[in-house]
Amino acid sequence: MSDLTADAVATGHLGNPAGNPAAPGGGRTVASAVPPALVARLAAGITVTGEPGVVETVAPLTGERLASLAQSTPADVEAAFLLARRAQPAWAALPVRRRAAVLLRFHDLLIKRQDEVLDLVQAETGKARLHAFEEVMAVAMAARHYGRAAHGYLRDKRHGGALPVLTHAIEARRPKGVIGHISPWNYPLELSVGDALPAFVAGNAVVNKPDTQTALTALWARELLVEAGLPADLWQIVVGDGPVIGPAVVEHADYVSFTGSTRTGRDVAQRAAARLVGASLELGGKNAMLVLADADLDRAAAGAVRACFSSAGQLCISVERLMVHRSVADAFLEKFAERTRNLRLGGGLAYGADMGSLVSARQLDATTRHVDEAVKAGATVLAGGRARPDLGPFFYEPTILDGVTPEMAVCAEETFGPVVSVYRFDTEDQAVAAANATPYGLNSSVWTRDPRRGRAVAARLRTGTVNVNEAYGAAYGSVASPMGGMGDSGLGRRHGAEGILRFTEAQTIATQRLIPIAPSFGLDDRQFASVMTGGLRVLKALRIK
Ligand code: NAD
Repeated sequence: MSDLTADAVATGHLGNPAGNPAAPGGGRTVASAVPPALVARLAAGITVTGEPGVVETVAPLTGERLASLAQSTPADVEAAFLLARRAQPAWAALPVRRRAAVLLRFHDLLIKRQDEVLDLVQAETGKARLHAFEEVMAVAMAARHYGRAAHGYLRDKRHGGALPVLTHAIEARRPKGVIGHISPWNYPLELSVGDALPAFVAGNAVVNKPDTQTALTALWARELLVEAGLPADLWQIVVGDGPVIGPAVVEHADYVSFTGSTRTGRDVAQRAAARLVGASLELGGKNAMLVLADADLDRAAAGAVRACFSSAGQLCISVERLMVHRSVADAFLEKFAERTRNLRLGGGLAYGADMGSLVSARQLDATTRHVDEAVKAGATVLAGGRARPDLGPFFYEPTILDGVTPEMAVCAEETFGPVVSVYRFDTEDQAVAAANATPYGLNSSVWTRDPRRGRAVAARLRTGTVNVNEAYGAAYGSVASPMGGMGDSGLGRRHGAEGILRFTEAQTIATQRLIPIAPSFGLDDRQFASVMTGGLRVLKALRIK
């Protein structure tokens, strides 16, 4: 641990080896931006009873101590569900528009107070401020969308009944109850509150277990949502070791919303299945970007930088496999490598850096291992390829690898760091086959001057989202459309109708009028069957659905 300030790091006071320049700092330190009084106020929002154990977190930018947080036990998780369960019925009884108004007020507060949370996200994750801002944007978009559209998603829908005119059928949506919501550290604002918003507006309470490293951001979002009008008990936050309290969250939940690794997701899915409660799982990826022969290479190179190095590659939808048509590969790689080498690394709590730090020694080790093993086995480094301890304890340069072969771990395993491998293809079929040759299926990106061709290629890719001429923001930001993974990348979707209806139970209410659906008016069983058989033929002929 060092006592460096973020500013000292960002302004490169410690020397700066060639390549990736350091960005200017913001003049503020982590300690001044996230003072002990703020930490203590936020930490008081953790659901704990009795004498809790304490866990310490560290600011990745500098290695400074950041926060001491109480650790919830499985008994605290149970208490949290009890509190949430008590608060939920009154909330669910409010008209949807009253609940939606809370989201719209939250939208405005978030935009107004964004600097507070940008500091927190940077302090807890080490990412560049621009990438922290992506979270503010994503959450504001989700708040606006569900604030405006929830009423339409949730209102009773009239359907054709068993017997036309005589059966009146409606589909209603009921809240699940209390959602168990488990979220990771990499997008701590978006993946805590962003996913909770549709659950709340659908009438649920939420017990959230954020990653301990980024609990302050979730606690801050909770405070803001309460300020916007959410009853305080409706969102409980428990903090603690995933394998210890994560299963307790699943144990008490009426539905589980999980974002994290595929390995943990499988465990969560099994526990939820044993209880017969549903779960949505937003998991890992090994996403591909395809640069077709007719792509605008400057745009594609700039897009590749966003696709591969946003949040230092610690983004589930970021690109780790770059497939380029052989005819443009050299020209594209020259542009991409040059842009990558010029990215400014930095840890200042201000805009200006193009990439920040990794979050932890664990992420740094995984990244270093993937790159070092690949290089040892014959891969070539086109840019980056080394840690930058001169900038902060977990900085790693944005890295492009060429000549990666299937036996190298970096080829198929998710790195979750700023590392991309380059492959060349000759035909579209080859590119599509290579992109699909992974058990994951989260996101992909296709670059071409012909949008129609881009969409045709997209239709052949087995990923939950495909961005044409954008890295990931086009699909992720289109919040009325579903977002999530196929295959090992998950189950279920966030955003759009699926993103809110997953937090509801469908209830059909059918009212029968005048005659029963059974022999009546003196018809015996055979006559009833004969009348109904004629009726079935007529319904089909009339094209009744
Ligand atoms: P992780 O699975 O280790 O942890 C995620 C969350 O689960 C944390 O809160 C953790 O404490 C908790 N947890 C750990 N063990 C648990 C258990 N046994 N039961 C219940 N909960 C448990 O993942 P991570 O390493 O923190 O996050 C990175 C991973 O998340 C990457 O694989 C990334 O691709 C994925 N991710 C996916 C999406 C998406 O939307 N698809 C978004 C962000 C991150």
